[in-house]
Amino acid sequence: MNDITKPMMVDVFKQISSLPFADLHFRNDPSTQLKAIVAIHSTELGPALGGVRCLSYSNTDRALKDVLQLARGMTYKSAINRLEYGGGKAVILYPEMFKKKSAEYRNALFSAFGDFIESLNGQYITAVDSGTGPDDMDVIARRTNHVVCTSQQMKGTGDPSPYTAQGVLRGIQAVLKKSTGSDNLSGRHILVQGVGHVGASLVEKLNKQGAKITISDSDNTLLKKYVEKFSCDAVSSNNVFEVECDVFSPCALGQVIDSKVVSKLKAPAIAGAANNQLMSDEMGEMLRKAGILYAPDYVINSGGMLQIAFINDVGKIAEKIDQIYMTLLNIFEKSDQQKMATNRVADRMAEAVIEQHYHCKHASAYPPEQGVNSNC
Ligand code: NAD
Repeated sequence: MNDITKPMMVDVFKQISSLPFADLHFRNDPSTQLKAIVAIHSTELGPALGGVRCLSYSNTDRALKDVLQLARGMTYKSAINRLEYGGGKAVILYPEMFKKKSAEYRNALFSAFGDFIESLNGQYITAVDSGTGPDDMDVIARRTNHVVCTSQQMKGTGDPSPYTAQGVLRGIQAVLKKSTGSDNLSGRHILVQGVGHVGASLVEKLNKQGAKITISDSDNTLLKKYVEKFSCDAVSSNNVFEVECDVFSPCALGQVIDSKVVSKLKAPAIAGAANNQLMSDEMGEMLRKAGILYAPDYVINSGGMLQIAFINDVGKIAEKIDQIYMTLLNIFEKSDQQKMATNRVADRMAEAVIEQHYHCKHASAYPPEQGVNSNC
């Protein structure tokens, strides 16, 4: 038996307070071997909304860091789009060997996860993310109502990836507009890292606009499939930063931009779907100083969340996704004016929305002469 009196290597409370967090929930279900974490960063603007990742993590510490950072990003994504949602995220620790298990096993696992979500009483609403799809959401929906992105058979919103990809396309146009003066994609060279759900949809859209595309994916089968389908170039994962291009679009997993990448990147702009692209917030300033334009991740990848938020209003979804272009140009302008990294500018904009909401909610606590209620 494990010695539970031994101290944990990860100081969970230290990690929570550094971000800072509302709630963190763990579920260990011995009957299905479900090991899952739900992080609720904020419910200030509404119930915490965010996808569930189902991935093989090398250790629990990594899974915990991932879920904490992702949940925080969701709070900011909702705020910058002025949505009535808070930020949350979930991870299911799914070792490689689980991939060999049967479909029945996966159903049992996601049923147990559904019970976990139900036990949180609607504080957190789960959705699709890396390693999960609408079929998994359908299984979860048999146990809880606090789930979105279920399949069309279940009258759900399905896979949000094409909407996310559409937002990323508009984001790529915004960085091109800023860096070259034109947002025309024809002949522009875009390097897409990761051709999973979002990346593949993005490549299809870029192809229609006449862009020159280079793709990379650690899954060679996928790589081959899309090279053939779109007649685009491929680069191995190891050589991805050697490619000279107009825009680097990270659409795989996070933390791709560290100081080494900043110094060797051969693209003047970064605009992609991946969450938590920067190894740390300081990378934003490093990119600014290096003259590399960065589209903050939670702004450019908010298309999927907008689809969920405006589920029955197709026109509104399209309008809000289109606005990603202007929001980014606004961020770039402020970044120039204030000599501040684009990620920091975006954070400030999102924090201002949350603070205003907080003040309005607690308006009676402030005397009128302080003026904090004037916009409520
Ligand atoms: P996905 O799992 O379908 O695709 C990720 C792809 O990246 C896979 O094909 C994988 O093989 C590849 N990959 C992993 N590591 C790689 C590496 N080192 N180099 C090259 N390729 C690598 O995930 P997705 O749903 O397409 O999401 C991609 C990213 O966008 C994730 O960070 C996700 O959190 C973020 N995101 C997705 C959505 C959405 O609507 N799906 C919304 C917002 C943000």
